[in-house]
Amino acid sequence: MMIESIHAVREKLRAVRGQQKIALVGTMGNLHQGHLHLVKLAKQHADYIVVSIFVNPMQFGPKEDFASYPRTLEGDLEKLSSLDVDLVFAPKMQDIYPAQLDVHTKVTVPNISDEFCGLFRPGFFTGVATVVCKLFNIIQPNIVIFGEKDFQQLHIIRQLVQDLCFPIQIISSPIIREEDGLAMSSRNQYLLPQERKIAGQIYQTLLNTGQKLMEGEVDFNNLTSQAKNILASHFKVDYFSICKREDLKEACKDDKDLIILVAAWLGRARLIDNLCVDLC
Ligand code: AMP
Repeated sequence: MMIESIHAVREKLRAVRGQQKIALVGTMGNLHQGHLHLVKLAKQHADYIVVSIFVNPMQFGPKEDFASYPRTLEGDLEKLSSLDVDLVFAPKMQDIYPAQLDVHTKVTVPNISDEFCGLFRPGFFTGVATVVCKLFNIIQPNIVIFGEKDFQQLHIIRQLVQDLCFPIQIISSPIIREEDGLAMSSRNQYLLPQERKIAGQIYQTLLNTGQKLMEGEVDFNNLTSQAKNILASHFKVDYFSICKREDLKEACKDDKDLIILVAAWLGRARLIDNLCVDLC
């Protein structure tokens, strides 16, 4: 069942709350297997599954792809109906943002929101944090599921939940990939056929760097420069960084729980990916 109005979704959930564990899977639609995996995970942890579909204007920069972002509601509903989702919340823009964005209350998780993707997309994580808070307040889920593909986003939402005392458990889903390793994303469809053929190089480069870390390479600067150089023949790299998984700070040679974060442009598509590396 799809509901658009905030009032109606609240009424619907009033009858469920307390009886059943409610999980929320937040999406911008144009659903692919990555999203559907989040839903399957939600079903393992909760009784009542809400999927939200909303292309959030606040997280797009003025020169970004808000207008052209793929909107495929009918197909999305079909995919979700085969998974037996209990409720799809697809609010209208004016219900989520009745006023202009620039006069709207905003939620910002400091410092980390200005790193990595935040450096290249100013205001992006404030847009994400703000809409996530709205969805949490509207749905009041017991559990939320987020994908590890957007690892920085996941990190920021964990902090937001802790800082703002939301009584919500966060579950993360591993990255779902295409056969050549490209992380699934709605933006992959911006890739031209020739670009699509080489897009898997991002994951290959992550794997190569991960392999060198496992072999004991500790010159992280050298590793990241090598990786950037390799990618630079086809991609415009925004960042490629080896970080501590715990706080996404730059990794030092004695750190064990690492994550390699990358964002790179290929044609019109900005691709992000990451790889966790455990050194023991
Ligand atoms: P989006 O619709 O792109 O805003 O993504 C909605 C949710 O799906 C976020 O929690 C993403 O991290 C997650 N997600 C998107 N793509 C993937 C993927 N390939 N694997 C796992 N999770 C994903």
